Amino acid sequence: MRHIWRGAFWIALYLLLIIAPLFVLLIGQAPPGRGFWREFSVGLGFAGLSMMGLQFFLTGRFRHITSPYGIDVVYHFHRQIAIIAFFFILLHPVILISSSPSTLVLLNPLTAPWWITIGTGGLLAFIIVIVTSLYRIEMGIIFEHWRIIHGYMSVVAVAFSMTHIAGVSYYVQEPVKRWLWISMVIGWILALLYVRIVKPISMLRRPYLIENVIKERGDSWTLALKPHGHKGMNFKPGQFAWLTIGKSPFAIREHPFSFSSSAMNPGQIEMTIKELGDFTSKIGEVARGTRAFMDGPYGTFTIDHYRSSGYVFIAGGVGITPIISILRTMADRNDLRPVVLFYQSKTLEGTTFREELENLKKRLNLQVIHILSQPADDWEGETGRINEKVIAKYLPSTRMDCEYLVCGPQPMQMALKEALEKLGISLERVQSESFNFV
Ligand SMILES: Cc1cc2nc3c(=O)[nH]c(=O)nc-3n(C[C@H](O)[C@H](O)[C@H](O)COP(=O)(O)OP(=O)(O)OC[C@H]3O[C@@H](n4cnc5c(N)ncnc54)[C@H](O)[C@@H]3O)c2cc1C
Repeated sequence: MRHIWRGAFWIALYLLLIIAPLFVLLIGQAPPGRGFWREFSVGLGFAGLSMMGLQFFLTGRFRHITSPYGIDVVYHFHRQIAIIAFFFILLHPVILISSSPSTLVLLNPLTAPWWITIGTGGLLAFIIVIVTSLYRIEMGIIFEHWRIIHGYMSVVAVAFSMTHIAGVSYYVQEPVKRWLWISMVIGWILALLYVRIVKPISMLRRPYLIENVIKERGDSWTLALKPHGHKGMNFKPGQFAWLTIGKSPFAIREHPFSFSSSAMNPGQIEMTIKELGDFTSKIGEVARGTRAFMDGPYGTFTIDHYRSSGYVFIAGGVGITPIISILRTMADRNDLRPVVLFYQSKTLEGTTFREELENLKKRLNLQVIHILSQPADDWEGETGRINEKVIAKYLPSTRMDCEYLVCGPQPMQMALKEALEKLGISLERVQSESFNFV
């Protein structure tokens, strides 16, 4: 209930901050009207820019803001709202030019006043931010380069646009209006400073040492991290953190990974990482004793948010990592509520945590159903992909009272949500974790 109220509060505050610049226009002496379309386009520009500025808060990983919704939902919102804000901003010059075609000449930087040219520059920076975010993969931009472009271009875009407003000065002549914009900008700068300076400093004070690097089945490695000079990180089973290895926490290079160890042991943290790209495929080479930093914990994919009389877990490949953390935690808590785990892998040989799951069966009320897409000839279990038929075969009679946690590739999640719905399970009982925010 507290989460719902907190969630509603942040949404109300967000809406208020977006429309604040429009209401402030009405305060005090309004400048003489300049026609409906011109005023309308300015209104859209103001609202779009204040939505863009608030993006610094949305992506700042402020736990109070993200916890009611889950950080993946916040990132999703950030993506969608950025597109809407961009169209508001784009409509500002489009409407101005359409309603008064003579203003087209203002796009010429050689003849236009500086405050108009800087506004055009801000718009171009916004176009770069949006296009590289929507088409990063198609444009062949690697994630790390995209992140740098995204960060710097966003700041340039907002700064240029603010300078444009100050330069035009028509709607912000009165001190109260000026101060509203200045305080909004100060808020955005503080959010940025928190993310880039305050947070890394606090991470620097809480370093970890890589104690062990363990080879796992399925091209994966487990990193064992020991807190150095502090007590470690309290997390809920199923949550994740952003990990930086070797460099300082000020480095822009950090990757999100779920905790795979038990939440009951915050002083001995493990993350299990599958070889995939340039960073993860070198994990096996990390030397023991290397320093690491963590920003977390984050995420709402956990059994600790809602109580349930039993659980059904569905994991695909490396999606097992948050699930193994949950199972290890349940074992440490002597939690004997019934659990059914559907686990999709290619082969039994490559099934990460295969032996550990067998051992956990002795400590838990746990049934594990392996589904292999490339089974050996002598495999007698389930084959192919997890689907409605396989799930229906093993679901417990208490299926309606169970909580469902699904972690795996996005297409698998979509298919399984559909399958569960067909089996009469309310999607309110289904939580899912996608290993991809972008
Ligand atoms: C909430 C969450 C939990 C995760 N838990 C695990 C886990 O327990 N084990 C595991 O093996 N993997 C996990 N991942 C996936 C892991 O973060 C990516 O596989 C890893 O960052 C890829 O890095 P790379 O440079 O090796 O691969 P690349 O080839 O550079 O990237 C592959 C894809 O991974 C994504 N990615 C790359 N870098 C980042 C980054 N810094 N931040 C966000 N996404 C990125 C991008 O979509 C990219 O296209 C998790 C991801 C998320 C979002």
